[in-house]
Amino acid sequence: MVGDMNGETRVGHGFDTHRFSDDPDRPLILGGVRFEGVPGLVGHSDGDAAAHAVTDALLSAAGLGDIGVMFPDTDDAWAGADSLQLLADAVARLAEAGWRVVNADCTVVAEAPRIAPRRDEMEARLSGVVGAPVTVKGKRAEALGALGRGEGLACWAVALIERP
Ligand code: MG
Repeated sequence: MVGDMNGETRVGHGFDTHRFSDDPDRPLILGGVRFEGVPGLVGHSDGDAAAHAVTDALLSAAGLGDIGVMFPDTDDAWAGADSLQLLADAVARLAEAGWRVVNADCTVVAEAPRIAPRRDEMEARLSGVVGAPVTVKGKRAEALGALGRGEGLACWAVALIERP
């Protein structure tokens, strides 16, 4: 139970940003969902910034470092990696340390694509991997700065975890 005085609860925060790719063949993957008609994101893995932000929130909450430490982008093992697999690995690391995820919440800031029509799919994919509710919402940057110019997108996430 959240707030159980006998247990331990912690919160973690994650942030990730990726630039849109010039490669027309690179797919956009966000929250494990593929979006058509929008450029993909530059990245060593599949560039799934939503999955990366949630992964960092979880690792941070547990004091297990961050995604860059766990899956170095200098390591070819993670080239083109499915970021949901990286997220699953992080959840497994938390479980080994005795942590259970209570929930996570992710905000995607992007001019495109529109998140709302795919929100349920993203939430289902992320929640399935995490084993707890993961909520997602999309916001626009209102034409401000690099995000507002559509040069890339950014994701922020928070996660709550508990240990008996
Ligand atoms: Mg990333």
